[in-house]
Amino acid sequence: MNLLDNLNPAQKEAVISNDQYIRIIAGAGSGKTRVLITRIAYLVQERNVYPSKILAITFTNKAANEMKERIKNILGDPSGAVWISTIHSLCVRILREDIQSMGMPRNFTVMDQDDQKTILKEAYKEHGIDKSAISFGSMLDYIGNNKGAEITVDRAYVLAGSFSGEKSKAKVYEYYCNRQKELYALDFDDLLLVTVKMFKMFPEVRAKWARRFSHIHVDEFQDIDKVQYELISQLAGTENNVCVVGDPDQTIYTWRGADVNIIMNFEKDYKPCKTVVLNENYRSTENILNGANSVIRRNKNRIEKDLYTNRSNDDKISHYISAGEEYEASWIANKIAEGHKLGKKYRDFAILYRSNYLSRAIEKGLLDEHIPYIIYGGVKFYERAEIKDALCYLRMVSGSDDLALQRVINKPKRGLGNKTMDTIFERSREKGCSMYEVIRDEELFSGKVQETISKFVTMVERWKTVASTKAVFELLEMVIDESGYRRMLEDEKETERLENLKELINDVQSFTINYPESTLDEYLQLVSLYGDKEESLDGDFVQLMTVHAAKGLEFDTVFVCGLSDGIFPNERAMAEGNRGVEEERRLAYVAFTRARNKLYLTESSGFSYILSKARVRSRFIDEIEEDYVEHLGATFDYGKPKDFVVSPNSPTNKPMPQMIPKSTEPAARWRKGEQVIHGKFGDGIVLKYENGFLEIAFPYPHGVKKIMATHPSIKKK
Ligand code: ATP
Ligand code: MG
Repeated sequence: MNLLDNLNPAQKEAVISNDQYIRIIAGAGSGKTRVLITRIAYLVQERNVYPSKILAITFTNKAANEMKERIKNILGDPSGAVWISTIHSLCVRILREDIQSMGMPRNFTVMDQDDQKTILKEAYKEHGIDKSAISFGSMLDYIGNNKGAEITVDRAYVLAGSFSGEKSKAKVYEYYCNRQKELYALDFDDLLLVTVKMFKMFPEVRAKWARRFSHIHVDEFQDIDKVQYELISQLAGTENNVCVVGDPDQTIYTWRGADVNIIMNFEKDYKPCKTVVLNENYRSTENILNGANSVIRRNKNRIEKDLYTNRSNDDKISHYISAGEEYEASWIANKIAEGHKLGKKYRDFAILYRSNYLSRAIEKGLLDEHIPYIIYGGVKFYERAEIKDALCYLRMVSGSDDLALQRVINKPKRGLGNKTMDTIFERSREKGCSMYEVIRDEELFSGKVQETISKFVTMVERWKTVASTKAVFELLEMVIDESGYRRMLEDEKETERLENLKELINDVQSFTINYPESTLDEYLQLVSLYGDKEESLDGDFVQLMTVHAAKGLEFDTVFVCGLSDGIFPNERAMAEGNRGVEEERRLAYVAFTRARNKLYLTESSGFSYILSKARVRSRFIDEIEEDYVEHLGATFDYGKPKDFVVSPNSPTNKPMPQMIPKSTEPAARWRKGEQVIHGKFGDGIVLKYENGFLEIAFPYPHGVKKIMATHPSIKKK
């Protein structure tokens, strides 16, 4: 089959063009990435360009791998020589070869954010600076900005003048730079900055690298920043061919320095430049595309595009309002289960959200339906560090097990070292009891250490005493406040972790409201089931990710959840005014245009713990023209005037889904009068089964208890 067979005339023109500079500006799903891939294959097959002379820069590693795979399918083995990578990986390759010209060894270390924080910790300690005075986040911004603006340490001191806060920052900056030199380490910003600087200082090195390539391609060019652009220009020189593709409507990284003017002005920097516009969208059905277009059209600061599709169908975008986030999640899970039954693969489905914390409810909904999922580019909610920490604090109140103790005793830092912990551990082995029992019952240490431990024990004992009088969520709030854990995250300005923590409180709160008589132990049991890693072998998973991570990807069916004002658009962006909202709208456009055949937009009504107010429907839903969207779910209107049509298939016509994991045993198996045995309360008799819960009569002093039927502590006799 001919390479060009599956291209429309405009795409073909871009693929075979001999122009030195080509710019493709086109909307989502119009085949920009496909054109890049085909062009690379065409250059090799038809124009006899050496594969090793071709460079393609992608935005993410996943995109790079997909591109490699697709080019390999066309070209076979020779494709291995094509340079396909992210711009950071490209810099690493360049620097591994030539960095010695800058006085650094080739085996330099690439630092990630954790490594950066380790150096900051050392610097703060050295200079007696408290994290509450300068957060790590703002310090890293300061370092990045200084480096980007080529502000040396000496200059930073001059700029700081006599302001003590600024002087402290300059000191940390000095420490950081010196430490990097000692360690021969580069952070992510450095990779680009050092390469650009090296090329400027040593024109012969730049010329060597520019000669390596004859054809340079850049995907997602709308999100390029100034330094990246400079590097690309250095590699392009005056001889090389440059082909850039992008969609200004999908610029979603301006908060990280992306500048859409770069793609807009490309034709002025690279003359003469051929601009190709692609107008046909091949990805999405008409309703999805028109719906997304009607939203992005609201942006004032944009260039009008005329994107159409020939993929018409009757299926509209479905907008669903649920009674609460658990219902939203189980509705999504049910839709996926239905689709799977009808023969779709799990990986045909993607669930996109604006912020990571939103995955919590969704994950729960999927687990309840036993649907396998992966979180692309992130960590599952109950595996996130702050969630484990908070749950371990709760475990201190409940069983005080060793693992929980070890996890939380030094969070926040209480100055208890490894030696102290080893001593406690050995003593617990000797006595055959738990580590907590050791510190509760004995005074093994003296001075400050003992004082700290005693204080910790007193705190835990107090929690234990009040535990039975408090609802689980009140207990959780108390524990994270009194332990200083929440304060620690606030001091470190860990906004995302704080959001996750709030979401956990929200989770416990709805659990308490739904099951008022349930105990802390029951909650912990329940979430321990959610924390289980349940990876299926065939690699068929529903994919969960943030909208940012979904850039450039496509899926048969896409759910975009949590569509409330303040969540998506995000509150912080809304506070920035029009600029912020327009970036969020571009993000919504990216999200909606990931769908090939079906797009679901979901939201919940009711009170939001994160927003501390009642939710109001996202403006992006209202902005979709009515012809392209159907409204399902709640028949009431809670925020904005709008009539809702209840579809005959609306889940409101079905019983509400269960909010707890479905029992593996059908309800019918729990009969009234049946004898059971409970791990703690002993023998009992079932009085009632209702909504996944059993009412069981236990002997004095326990009495009648309401317990989840799935609870592992209950067995039939
Ligand atoms: P995005 O802006 O989201 O990155 P894009 O413009 O890069 O999108 P592609 O991912 O290249 O778009 O293409 C979208 C879908 O349309 C892909 O499945 C691709 O294979 C298909 N496609 C592109 N061009 C054609 C064509 N001429 N005929 C049939 N299918 C096509
Ligand atoms: Mg693309």
